[in-house]
Amino acid sequence: MQNEGLSELEVWIDQDLCTGDGICVQYAPEVFELDIDGLAYVKSADDELLQDKGATTPVPLPLLNDVRDSAKECPGDCIHVRRVSDGVEVYGPDAE
Ligand code: SF4
Repeated sequence: MQNEGLSELEVWIDQDLCTGDGICVQYAPEVFELDIDGLAYVKSADDELLQDKGATTPVPLPLLNDVRDSAKECPGDCIHVRRVSDGVEVYGPDAE
C-alpha cells in the first residue's frame, strides 16, 4: 500500500460481526465507542455515535496507527478502513 498516509481514509464497522469485546475502543476511543447494545460504533468528529448501518467516519491522521491496529486485532474482523477517493479497503478483512 503506497502513499496510504497521504490519502484520506474513513472507517466503518459491520456490527453483525462485532463481538463487543471493546478492543477497538481501547485502541482508539476517539473513533470507536461501545453502545448500550454491547456493540461498537464509529463516532463523528464531534463525538456523535453513528448508528446507521455502514456509517463511516473520517480517520484523523494522528490516529491512523491506532485505527489500523484496531482493524488488525479486531476479533470479529469487522472494522473496515478504506480510501475516501476510490472506496478501496486498505485495512480490514477486504483489504488486499
Ligand atoms: S474490536 Fe471489533 S469485534 Fe471488538 S468491539 Fe471493536 S468492532 Fe467489535
